[in-house]
Amino acid sequence: MAKQERLVKMRGAIGDLSFITPRKRLLTFFFLTSHFLFLTSYFCTMHFSSRLLEQAVEEFGRLPGVGKKTALRLVLHLLKQSDGEVSRFTGAINQLKEQIKYCKTCFNIADVEVCEICSSAKRDHETICVVEDTRDVMAIENTNQYQGVYHVLGGLISPMDGIGPADLKIEALIERLRAGTIKEVILALSATMEGDTTIFYLYRKLKDFDVQISTIARGIAFGGELEYVDEVTLGRSIATRVPYERNVG
Ligand SMILES: [Zn+2]
Repeated sequence: MAKQERLVKMRGAIGDLSFITPRKRLLTFFFLTSHFLFLTSYFCTMHFSSRLLEQAVEEFGRLPGVGKKTALRLVLHLLKQSDGEVSRFTGAINQLKEQIKYCKTCFNIADVEVCEICSSAKRDHETICVVEDTRDVMAIENTNQYQGVYHVLGGLISPMDGIGPADLKIEALIERLRAGTIKEVILALSATMEGDTTIFYLYRKLKDFDVQISTIARGIAFGGELEYVDEVTLGRSIATRVPYERNVG
């Protein structure tokens, strides 16, 4: 009964639309299609009034996480700044690339040959924390829970991205262990497939040395990356690190 009522109502509604003639329908179709094409082309291509502006937007747009619209906003913002402010901005970028150094011991980004952490007498030089990049060093330092030194690999083993062990600072880590003063290596790598692959590879390479190999406790969500973990969780996971052998079984 209810079904029939609904059918009648539907037919009524369709019947009400009968005033739309085939010609009108065709016109509506062309109207909507042209609007769709116009909006698509507007958002896909930007028409610049200046080649220099276009060039700057293109360069900013190459940065990770910056789309063309954001790039345009940044460039227009820079244009509004004073000459001095823009010179400071470009100078900082030029200096960064020309003068930045990588610590020759741990490969962390530094201003000098040996970074502050490696040259500090207050740090425990018998414990090395192995991390992917400088962002992880910053995240762990922010916890104030770790007193050892670091070793920055410069990435993770990722066959999909064509990154193999030879592309990372693994040989340099082995060299540090050969010196014989290291007692513990903490593998603080992301809980991702690449992180786990790298941990397993490092374990195979380091297990014959007389050092304790541990991984940070995985209170961190699986698939989580270190830089996004809050300081308390990251600090606790370093403090409660576990020997790696137990994980391998
Ligand atoms: Zn260093």
